[in-house]
Amino acid sequence: MFDTLEGLGIRAARQKKLIASGNGFQMIRPVKDRGEEFISGGGIILYMSKFHSNYRITMKDIVREGHEILHRPVQEASVPPSEEDKETLICMIHFLKNSQDPHLSKKYNLRAGVGLSANQIGLNKRMFAAYFKDEAGEVHEYAIINPKIVSHSVSMIYLPTGEGCLSVDREIYGFVPRYERIRVRGVNIEGEEIELKLKGYASIVFQHEIDHLDGIMFYERINKESPFQVPENCRSLY
Ligand SMILES: [Zn+2]
Repeated sequence: MFDTLEGLGIRAARQKKLIASGNGFQMIRPVKDRGEEFISGGGIILYMSKFHSNYRITMKDIVREGHEILHRPVQEASVPPSEEDKETLICMIHFLKNSQDPHLSKKYNLRAGVGLSANQIGLNKRMFAAYFKDEAGEVHEYAIINPKIVSHSVSMIYLPTGEGCLSVDREIYGFVPRYERIRVRGVNIEGEEIELKLKGYASIVFQHEIDHLDGIMFYERINKESPFQVPENCRSLY
């Protein structure tokens, strides 16, 4: 699946960027661990994220817990989204799909993921990608910029299996209470303002990812004294 997505699109986009940058290029020092690189062509030096749409994210790109970018809120992304941010989001979606593909996940040694926030690949940007099947078997695919929970239910749910995270390499036990239903506002990859009503598993995935963008790890929401204790208004998802 991945290979068919590679091709001419990125080359054209890069070409356009190179031309657009003209002589007035900016040289910026590369920042380590931020997933950025220099691209040079025709004497022009261009600075952009390495996460263009035909870059293949692997586990070595995933920032692990303890890195400061996962433990503080990230910055809002520009709207309408830049070409670079769109490419990054496409790249993140590819990663999630690859990670759930039995053949590709084995080939590239990927841990299965259903959501990925930009700071999990070292980018200080409020955006995330999600790709998953909910409890009713419906497939969800999102690339969302500047997401914000605007309202939520009083009732809460938790995953009886607990939560996991691509940025956490250890087993963590305990239930993570989440709102059963949320309303989220944000901007999609086309730059359109959107509002989503989410419930159940989708609501859990979104809260996990929005927490990442706010610098919160899922295990911070587990009851420290009693990890399997949940609030009164909280039930198991299944
Ligand atoms: Zn996570």
